[in-house]
Amino acid sequence: MSTFRHRYGLQLHLYFHRITNSLRKLRKSTAVYYGKHLLCNSYKERFIVFILIDMRSCCYCETWGVVVASILGFENMKTIDPEQYEHIVFFTGAGMSAESGVPTYRGRGGVWSQYRWEDYACQDAFDGNPETVLQFHELRRAAVLACKPHSGHTAIATLEKKHPRVTVVTQNIDGMHQRAGSGNVIELHGSLWRLRCPYDGISEDIGERYKSYKCEKCGSWLRPDIIWFGDMLDQGVTSEAIAAIRCCDLFVSIGTSGVVYPAAGFPRFAKENNARCIEINPEANEMSSLYDESIRDTAGKSLMELFGRGARPSCLLTE
Ligand SMILES: [Zn+2]
Repeated sequence: MSTFRHRYGLQLHLYFHRITNSLRKLRKSTAVYYGKHLLCNSYKERFIVFILIDMRSCCYCETWGVVVASILGFENMKTIDPEQYEHIVFFTGAGMSAESGVPTYRGRGGVWSQYRWEDYACQDAFDGNPETVLQFHELRRAAVLACKPHSGHTAIATLEKKHPRVTVVTQNIDGMHQRAGSGNVIELHGSLWRLRCPYDGISEDIGERYKSYKCEKCGSWLRPDIIWFGDMLDQGVTSEAIAAIRCCDLFVSIGTSGVVYPAAGFPRFAKENNARCIEINPEANEMSSLYDESIRDTAGKSLMELFGRGARPSCLLTE
């Protein structure tokens, strides 16, 4: 138990209750206050925190005081022990890369507010002017190479090294997860770092500039291996992602609204396997209610706190 001086000068007694304790105990309390540092250092149980708006006397010192209150609903405050899960899937979107400074494509200030995708990111544009399209994608590569993976990317890559089964499913094409060290990455929308010959298949190309715009074997123009506007998603890749999600028991969605199919179905697939579903996104969206927990913070901070030592539960505020 700790004490806390109220801003009106009344001293309130504060203490914590485990969820498993009876609510009777909570009603008796003058105030139950959430203290980050104590939770962080001393408690590993799940907590629920109540601060009540009420005029009550303290059950310890009988001082009367105003107790300010709302139910904050801090549940699942503890950090995650990855070993408790057999298969962890991280599903990442534009917000994950934006934290590294990678320009986003959609939305205000995004790439598509400066460039017409009709001229640079569809099959028709490529068929009409492949050189321009390839030059545009070189600009995108340069922009990505100017950025570095952040601590969230590193956290996921580190987990993959320690845990037998970690899968990244990403909507991003920038290869940031791989640069951070992740090996098991399913790229739903392709990659900036691959090219595709219509006859000789896919080849990797990882420089700022493409080694060649044309296939060495047959001379055809090489197309970035990216899902452009008007393209169908690769069915094999999508199926692989869904198969991974269907058998995961921890599903963490990061920086994506996930409102477009197939992504919109992902938390449901995870739920069907009774997976714990966590959303990390500074903004709520219409899919948020599907998650068991929502963390309104950046990926870099949240992932380190969720999985790292010295977890700081302030990141786990639910709305
Ligand atoms: Zn070829």
